Amino acid sequence: MGKNTFYITTPIYYPSDKLHIGHAYTTVAADAIARYHRLCGKDVFFLTGSDEHGQKIERIAKERGKTPKEYVDEIVKGFQHLWQKLDIAYDDFIRTTEERHCRVVQELFRKIYEKGDIYKGEYKGWYCTPCETFFPESRLVDGNCPDCGRPVELLQEESYFFRMSKYADRLLEYIEANPDFIQPTSRRNEMIQFIKSGLEDLCVSRTSFSWGIPVPIDEGHVIYVWFDALTNYLTGIGYLDDPAMFQKYWPADVHLVGKEIVRFHSVIWPIILMAAGLELPKKVYGHGWLLFDSDKMSKSKGNVVDPLVLIDRFGVDAIRYFLLREISFGSDGNFSWEALVGRINADLANDLGNLVHRSSAMMKKYYKGIVPEPGPERPIDAALREEAANTKAKLVSLMEELDLSTALATIWRFIGAVNKYIDEAAPWALAKDESKGDELARVMYNLAESIRWIALFVYPFIPSTAKEIWNRLGLDDELTAHLLGEVRWGEMPSGTAIRPGSPLFPRIEDEDKEPPAKAPAKSTVEIDIEEFARLDIRLARVIAAERVAGADKLLKLKVDLGSEERQIVAGLAQHYKPEELVGKNVALLANLKPTKIRGELSQGMVLAAVADDGRVRALTVDEELPAGSKIR
Ligand SMILES: [Zn+2]
Repeated sequence: MGKNTFYITTPIYYPSDKLHIGHAYTTVAADAIARYHRLCGKDVFFLTGSDEHGQKIERIAKERGKTPKEYVDEIVKGFQHLWQKLDIAYDDFIRTTEERHCRVVQELFRKIYEKGDIYKGEYKGWYCTPCETFFPESRLVDGNCPDCGRPVELLQEESYFFRMSKYADRLLEYIEANPDFIQPTSRRNEMIQFIKSGLEDLCVSRTSFSWGIPVPIDEGHVIYVWFDALTNYLTGIGYLDDPAMFQKYWPADVHLVGKEIVRFHSVIWPIILMAAGLELPKKVYGHGWLLFDSDKMSKSKGNVVDPLVLIDRFGVDAIRYFLLREISFGSDGNFSWEALVGRINADLANDLGNLVHRSSAMMKKYYKGIVPEPGPERPIDAALREEAANTKAKLVSLMEELDLSTALATIWRFIGAVNKYIDEAAPWALAKDESKGDELARVMYNLAESIRWIALFVYPFIPSTAKEIWNRLGLDDELTAHLLGEVRWGEMPSGTAIRPGSPLFPRIEDEDKEPPAKAPAKSTVEIDIEEFARLDIRLARVIAAERVAGADKLLKLKVDLGSEERQIVAGLAQHYKPEELVGKNVALLANLKPTKIRGELSQGMVLAAVADDGRVRALTVDEELPAGSKIR
């Protein structure tokens, strides 16, 4: 048996701006893994935090007229607020500006320096300030930063270097001997190739800014980035302050990171640990990116989604569920509004919400809401019990592999099986036949018991919903007082009074499906005639119009532009009947980038006047002109 502790970390996030849904994904995943291990009875330590030093922070703070500390204090408060809203149950939040951390970094630096693995040299390289990274010439793209595309500058300064190269062979041996160390396997192979191509010594100090931890042996230098940031994983579990705690949790079971920082965690970090004479973490897991229109989420590209807005609109568990279910762990996943609403309606409102709702309604109707003593088990009842046991076994092995999305799919397959059991066992038919009392009691008991198991299964992923289901079952102890490994079929106490409630997940209706509208422009912006000329507005004759299925605001139009026909999706359904538009000549913005709306291609936009009282009329001309006529 291994030790009964589990230590998991997220990256510490950089407070140069608010966090977006991509950060939320990493942290929710870590939280689900941590909660799962607690549910299995492990002594879990879950660490997250903030990486607060560096030139970029120094600069942003100055621009805002604040000290760096004042600036990071404010931003980090926002991080902690978001984690609270997302139900993140971390055990500690480490800030690299804390005194406890500065001492650890300096101690480690001194130790490795005294060993001779840190030396003074001269650093020269192409530096991207926004990314805070030096790049060798070979990595530049058209002379610019390979990560953000911005210009870089050639910098040279006296620096301390860490002898990474010395450890390359030892690290390779370690990676080969420990196949689980870097996961998934694709990232492991990338790292092996990277190390084999040769490691350069790492620059670990700077003199060009001062917002950092001073080099203990040379006050003019501050310790640079990775040496400062990665070390948080030691500080958080008491490396200097609490040796007993450190011994209990180190080495970490999982460092969960985005794939772009796998290299730092699986090359730089283990070498720092080797030099310091410490054990290496058991696993570095590099998950994929959350893509938005197939582009990596990042602030510099402007495609971020604010998780607080999503939580306020849909509730925390809908967002947690979506992130963990939709994105196959380890691969990239797409974020889209449509997929989010689809998951909420299909999986949460229909499958899970309806199961709980219809079961409690029947319990109320047939047994006044009291869970009955079950009758004998028939084959159909035994099959359900076995399905529950199989689901649990699969869940355990998938969670060991950190395969969160398949774990959820497996739980939902069981939810589907319970819904099917209701349809096949047909309690409403049994209730009509007095001789079937035992059978009805067995079915209703099994429903309550299945729902109890489902509450335990989903707890790591959607904890507040799980607790709500537990409460509705009338169970008065805490869900978290139970262990997944010890749950037995038949432990649902007969005689328990269930507590029915409103739907767990209200369906997202059509009018709520659209993304939140952008804030209206505050004032009129002046443009010149050249800018206006970029708009290709033409007269278009509507030749066909119909409603878009499932969307009560949208009409699908076919229009004639003289030289071509196009399909347009227009938000006019509440203002025109389809047949009222056919034959009209409307103004069409013809060079708007084509897009898909609710799965339908839209190649332009019908211009309309929108009155303050909500009336909308399409722009048209007061005399018949040829379709395609240019509007200027
Ligand atoms: Zn850059």
